[in-house]
Amino acid sequence: MKVLRFYFRTNLLLRILVGLAAGAVAGLIFGPKIQWVSPLGDIFVRLLKLIVMPVVVFTLVVGAASIHPARLGKVGVKALLLYTLTTALAVAIGLLVGNVFKPGLGMTLAGTAGAGGLKAEPTSLLQTVLEIVPLNPFKSITDGNMLQTIFFAILFGMGIAYLRESKEERIRASANTVFAFFDGCAEVMYKVVHWILEYAPIGVFALIAVVFGEQGSEAFGPLGMVTLSVYVALLLHLAVAYSGLLLVFRVGPLAFFARAKDAMVTAFVTRSSGGTLPVSMDVAEKKMGISKGVYSFSLPLGATINMDGTAIYQGVCVLFIGFAVGAPLTFSQQMTVILTAVLASIGTAGVPGSGAIMLMMVLNSVGMTVEPGTAVAMAYSMIFGIDALLDMGRTALNVTGDLAVTCAVAKAEGEIDSGCWLDAPPRDTLPEAGEA
Ligand code: ASP
Repeated sequence: MKVLRFYFRTNLLLRILVGLAAGAVAGLIFGPKIQWVSPLGDIFVRLLKLIVMPVVVFTLVVGAASIHPARLGKVGVKALLLYTLTTALAVAIGLLVGNVFKPGLGMTLAGTAGAGGLKAEPTSLLQTVLEIVPLNPFKSITDGNMLQTIFFAILFGMGIAYLRESKEERIRASANTVFAFFDGCAEVMYKVVHWILEYAPIGVFALIAVVFGEQGSEAFGPLGMVTLSVYVALLLHLAVAYSGLLLVFRVGPLAFFARAKDAMVTAFVTRSSGGTLPVSMDVAEKKMGISKGVYSFSLPLGATINMDGTAIYQGVCVLFIGFAVGAPLTFSQQMTVILTAVLASIGTAGVPGSGAIMLMMVLNSVGMTVEPGTAVAMAYSMIFGIDALLDMGRTALNVTGDLAVTCAVAKAEGEIDSGCWLDAPPRDTLPEAGEA
């Protein structure tokens, strides 16, 4: 009992890290003999798979239904456009860096676990685009067809959004009820995710132990390479995409980053865009002088659908898993990844670790499925083990992206107080009057 109490009281992140380290040590000590713990890891993979479809359906419906068509005016269209463009660019940068660093290349997971989890024929990009439109959306959901499910969920959510604005009282009321139902379902799923994550330390221990038992200390290299690739891509996106975007809208990037830093640091430590929202709003208003009319719409929208860091992470990790299982991604598969990672990042909730769950959907779209006991599941579990580390960086970038786009839109709309930008340092670091 005491052990259990101690387990649940300890910080989850710390427990996962301990599980990771203990798994690596156990794997190194016992070698392939550690195989017997693998059911503990398989349960974890199954639990994760269990929540993917419900999470995708409920969160996407709620996400799409939250964008009020009436508010989707000039600001909304600009913000949506910039959010989508920067996210697509982010996946491309992730893929670029992944192709240069080639994390996972030379690993022999396929040889040890069998090339399970790979579909025989990856579909072409054109076919993927065509097949996005489902013939029977209910079948798409039960078959786990991610793109079709997303398509239908967004369409359904948009329908709700429109009807919530209906002139007819009856229709408005029913649409709001449907919205509340899906919103409630999404909340329930977050709760379930939370419970499953309580098991994560044990699952991670078992999965990592098996990987290190098979691979020995050679597994360190690929994990280091994934981390390095993700962080290099994150920094590149910050330096190229955001600085470029801000310069186009005549905002000084350095002045921007100096003002955004509170939100960036909060996101880094909390690993939650949603949780950082109050800080981002405060930064937008007080430090950047952005009008409420813009940020009150664009920041919550960004925290819900704009996840550039997550998109980068997904790009790098899909490449890693492809290399690790001996099935490197083809060019057309990488194009598919751009499309699905943009959609996956839209569907990613702004809470810790959700990007790793949505990664399964991106993998799915290029013919890799995370089935217990397969090479794909092994490679996936390796990155899941270090997810906290990757989540910190990607969440910081997610939040920075929300602020950068909000700033650009505000500038374009003339909704920004230029007084806030006259001095190089942000206001709170200026000397008090009389001190200077
Ligand atoms: N933790 C990220 C966020 O809140 C989402 C993710 O896991 O990628 O923005």
